Formats: sequence, C-alpha cells, structure tokens
Amino acid sequence: MKIKAAVVEKQNADFEIKDDVELAEMGPDDIQVHMVASGICHSDEALRIGDAVIDYPIVLGHEGSGIVEKVGPEVTQFQPGDHVVLSFYACGNCKSCLKGIPTQCENYAQNNLSGVRPDGSSHFTENGHHVADMFDQSSFTTTTVVRERNAVKVPKDMDLRTLGPLGCGYVTGSGTVLNTLKPKPGDTIAVFGTGAVGLAA
Ligand SMILES: [Zn+2]
Ligand SMILES: [Zn+2]
Repeated sequence: MKIKAAVVEKQNADFEIKDDVELAEMGPDDIQVHMVASGICHSDEALRIGDAVIDYPIVLGHEGSGIVEKVGPEVTQFQPGDHVVLSFYACGNCKSCLKGIPTQCENYAQNNLSGVRPDGSSHFTENGHHVADMFDQSSFTTTTVVRERNAVKVPKDMDLRTLGPLGCGYVTGSGTVLNTLKPKPGDTIAVFGTGAVGLAA
C-alpha cells in the first residue's frame, strides 16, 4: 500500500514529505500501525546528517505511537484498535535478553540498524527502489508495519500524542539513572538538558 513518509534522500538532505512510498506487505508476526505521533530523537538527526549511517534514502523515526489497524496470523498480543507505543526490537532469546537486558540484545544491530526487514527485504520502496528503515519501525510515516515484539500496548485513555518518546528517550533517561547510576536516597545528580532524555532522567 502507498503511504506518506518523510524521506531523507541523501546525507544532510532535508526531510522530504512524499506520498508515493510503498509499504511492505505484513509478515505473519507483524502488526500494521496507523501512526498518531512520533517523538524526534537525536539519533534521527545523527542519521540525517551522517554522524551515524544506515543507508540513504531512509525513512527515520523510532519513537512512534499509534493505533493497530491489522495483525498477522501469528500475532497473539494485539488486535485491531489497540493503542501502542513502538520501540526497538530485542530478540528475546539471546543471553542478554534472557537476563532481562533487552537493550543489550546480541542481535540488536541486525534487527534495528540494517535498514531492511529481518528477511532482508525492503520495508519501504519508492518507484521500485529500496528505501531504508530505522529500528524496523520508521515512525515518520502515516502507517508502518512492525513486528509484534516492537510494540507495547498502552491504555486507550492516555493521549497517544505524548507517549511516543517512551520508546527511546524516556527509557534512555530513566534507565541511565535507575539501572546504571543507581543513586541512593539523599544523593544529588545533575541533569544537563531537558529534552525527553533529561526530563525522564
Ligand atoms: Zn532515540
Ligand atoms: Zn536478544
């Protein structure tokens, strides 16, 4: 199906809003999500300007929130109409994932930073040409397809427009303090910057 997406054609190019981007067909454990909102993270800008590289052209965005439109036949946790926040993919089977540290998933790079779907196919194409994805998610779109494990269900009475950064910025800020810094009651910490990461920290 054709969707609208913000495409970065080459290093340092501006975002170009295009309405002829073709979205991949869903796999059996995929869900199709209508995007309501997306955070913008420093990593999006790093990839746009070339400080980090996946591939160009690329559809960025990895802090999406939206509503499930369709589910694949093997999906067990979601149904159409569910509200979700999208995040990075963790395999769930490697040593780190089994220890409860999905942020250190041993298969992180191939699943999130390869620019293609797990089977090597394109998440997006334009006029038949490959367009890379980010985190197998790419939330700067009107609709995207992600694996079930990329999504977390959220209550329907919460405003989806405020929840997107839970997928990256908020967990980065809170995780840094709670899991790594581990301050004790009475300790003082300094937070420099009050974007999503700093506010969560
Ligand atoms: Zn991020
Ligand atoms: Zn893993």
